[in-house]
Amino acid sequence: MSSKITIAIQKKGRLFEDSKNLLTQSGINFSSSGENLLARSSNMNIDILLVRDDDIPSLVSKGVADLGIVGQNVLEEQKATNRIITAQPILELGFSNCKLAFAKPLNSRFRSLKNKRIATSYPALVKKYLKKNSIDAEVIKINGSVELTPYIGIADCICDLVSSGATLDANNLIEFKSLMKSQAVLISPVELNKIKQKNIINIIKRFEGVINAADSKYIMLNVDSSAAKKICNLLPGADSPTIIPLQKDNKVAIHALCKEPVFWETIEKLKLNGASSILVLPVEKILN
Ligand code: ATP
Ligand code: ZN
Repeated sequence: MSSKITIAIQKKGRLFEDSKNLLTQSGINFSSSGENLLARSSNMNIDILLVRDDDIPSLVSKGVADLGIVGQNVLEEQKATNRIITAQPILELGFSNCKLAFAKPLNSRFRSLKNKRIATSYPALVKKYLKKNSIDAEVIKINGSVELTPYIGIADCICDLVSSGATLDANNLIEFKSLMKSQAVLISPVELNKIKQKNIINIIKRFEGVINAADSKYIMLNVDSSAAKKICNLLPGADSPTIIPLQKDNKVAIHALCKEPVFWETIEKLKLNGASSILVLPVEKILN
């Protein structure tokens, strides 16, 4: 059997750019031009399958792809619908953040889902939610333009993906209950292919390295040694900063890997507490 690894990603849509960037930043080069379903990596023994996101959980469950990138919303819906979908999430990727939420027309006064008609593209997840909360309601499966259904009299409310809320606003809808949060995840078959296992784990480690670095910054600054402790406490997500004595009396340099976002407010606070020559550097990869 070939040791080539196959990774399934969305061909075009909201997941594509970030999925492609993750692969590229992990050192997997490929070009995805035209209508091709398959792209060969130019520098690694990897094939990239470019498909609709809905096909990714089944391709990975069957082992046609060794890894896949898909929204938790799609994975969970398919798992709730079909027992052959056994692919499992192995890494949260931090992009395509959204939530699956119930929304109703602005002028609707009801607050409960009881006896309501709910239009959604996620019928299995909605039914599971209703069952868990012992709510009697009708679920209507709609594949697209779910947000229009209350106005054409098909449904009382909807359950759909929301990110900024702009689509809800544009359709005079208001969210009133959240069902689940979602983001893109890396998925794999329950058991990794034995022959390829080592290489697959290596790829997963690379992805982890890129994801871990996403919010991280490397900070370097100088400060009076008397203020060093206070400054270290202000550094977001820094485990164990390095403190180096400087030639100048009573001054130290502090170097730290901050694993949480470093906002302007933090930098201003550092300065107010005596830090000078503050450098904030991007971090490309972190291997733990
Ligand atoms: P395909 O043609 O591949 O089937 P699609 O139309 O089903 O694409 P997209 O709209 O590209 O899917 O969305 C893909 C995923 O992006 C969603 O399943 C979800 O995980 C995520 N997503 C993030 N924000 C949103 C949003 N505001 N609306 C819809 N999906 C979002
Ligand atoms: Zn889709």
